Amino acid sequence: MNKREFLRASGILVSGATLSRLVSAEALTEQTAGPRKNWAGNLTYSTDHLFTPTSVEEVQQTVKRCDKLRALGARHSFNAIADSTANQVSLEHLDEMTIDDKAHTVTVGAGVRYGKLAPYLDSHGYALNNLASLPHVTVAGAVSTATHGSGIHNGNLSSIVSAVEFVNADGSLVTLSRAKDGDTFNGAVVALGALGIVTRITLDLLPTFQMRQAVYENLSFDQLEHNLDAIFGSGYSVSLFTDWQNHRATQVWIKKRIEPGMSSTLPPEFYGAKLATKKLHPIAGHDATPCTEQQGIPGPWYERMPHFRMNFTPSSGAELQTEYFVPRERGYEAILAVEKLHDRITPHLFVTEFRTIAADNLWMSTAYKRDSLAIHFTWKPEWPAVKEILPQIEKQLAPFDPRPHWAKLFTIPAAQLEAKYERLSDFKSLLKQHDPTGKFRNAFLDSNLYG
Ligand SMILES: Cc1cc2nc3c(=O)[nH]c(=O)nc-3n(C[C@H](O)[C@H](O)[C@H](O)COP(=O)(O)OP(=O)(O)OC[C@H]3O[C@@H](n4cnc5c(N)ncnc54)[C@H](O)[C@@H]3O)c2cc1C
Repeated sequence: MNKREFLRASGILVSGATLSRLVSAEALTEQTAGPRKNWAGNLTYSTDHLFTPTSVEEVQQTVKRCDKLRALGARHSFNAIADSTANQVSLEHLDEMTIDDKAHTVTVGAGVRYGKLAPYLDSHGYALNNLASLPHVTVAGAVSTATHGSGIHNGNLSSIVSAVEFVNADGSLVTLSRAKDGDTFNGAVVALGALGIVTRITLDLLPTFQMRQAVYENLSFDQLEHNLDAIFGSGYSVSLFTDWQNHRATQVWIKKRIEPGMSSTLPPEFYGAKLATKKLHPIAGHDATPCTEQQGIPGPWYERMPHFRMNFTPSSGAELQTEYFVPRERGYEAILAVEKLHDRITPHLFVTEFRTIAADNLWMSTAYKRDSLAIHFTWKPEWPAVKEILPQIEKQLAPFDPRPHWAKLFTIPAAQLEAKYERLSDFKSLLKQHDPTGKFRNAFLDSNLYG
């Protein structure tokens, strides 16, 4: 029996006539346009069955029909977290956005990307607390993996979720909220796609604000020994970039909120680093056109907080990514530990970025109960070499109890991961309640959570 016959026999593929009576054809028809890859192109998904429902009811129908199913967002994960050997479902058609002016919240369909949401919020007088380096990802995909930006006082993008609506394994629509579900809600936000198919998410809003961004060059790592908190606290969101050579950050990006009475002149020096005289790309030698405005030019929050603009390819394009989260108070030591490998890392690296994330209470968040420093690597697309380096970096970071980014590449074994998440068994109980047969589990979750 080939796949198509199997699906037809199991009721996933049905005839057009039946479909028109049940749900729209688009929802339950597989798309078979050939192999589909993730954004970076380093992963070909293990199934060519992709469902694209156009309503919550169609998501429920899709869930009921599939024995195994994984949700797919904007495909920006670098590992197999979104993969499935059976079926994937994209919620790109669920793209409604509804602001509640009384509650200061917005509820978005799971297909909405930050690039669409942010200007909409700004035009209604609102802002989000933070954004990732790029606006191309979906809110649902970002929240599911604890995607983050930077800022000593800013939690990750999952930390402003106040309610989540999802279809669980039997096709029921469930809503969990911060207000009514207490601690259980903390388990349902960073859910790694395992709890169910998220259909809507509600986010807390701030009043809109303007920002400006300044870039400084060449900050000695020595400055981090006593000033790490002051350096990362010098703006609303601060990022340091390095190539791990010469014991210094090549660039410091400082994103500040524009406050009344603020001087429009940028200080020429920052802890010994010099103000850049032109717009820069974080990766040396790359054209800076895709980057958001720098040099202190004011602009809306959503055009300064990400490093990359919506209509351009972010970062390098052909690349791999890895990231580890360590306690911020041990950030300087952790940086020095990784620096020992500099000559092994640099040849395969585009750039490293350091950011900070405020602690949260979300069970599977990489910042769970821990103010964190994130040490990120944008690698050249050289997986055989990168695969050799990752365990060496992980060994150097082991004394700092590193948590790897759920959506990026790592080699930390499952047994060690388990010890990093004290609420993992509660999370598994929650999954069992909503998905007793493991419909939403895939090989990535089997090996990393159940390994
Ligand atoms: C160039 C680039 C820059 C990046 N910058 C950052 C950064 O600054 N900070 C950071 O933290 N990360 C960053 N990332 C990583 C990225 O934010 C994460 O991979 C994020 O999860 C991608 O979201 P997505 O919409 O592409 O989801 P996908 O990668 O498609 O899916 C991610 C996970 O979310 C789940 N999911 C998606 N939709 C749903 C749904 N409706 N219901 C249930 N589960 C769902 C999937 O099953 C999967 O487990 C970057 C990635 C790239 C390629």
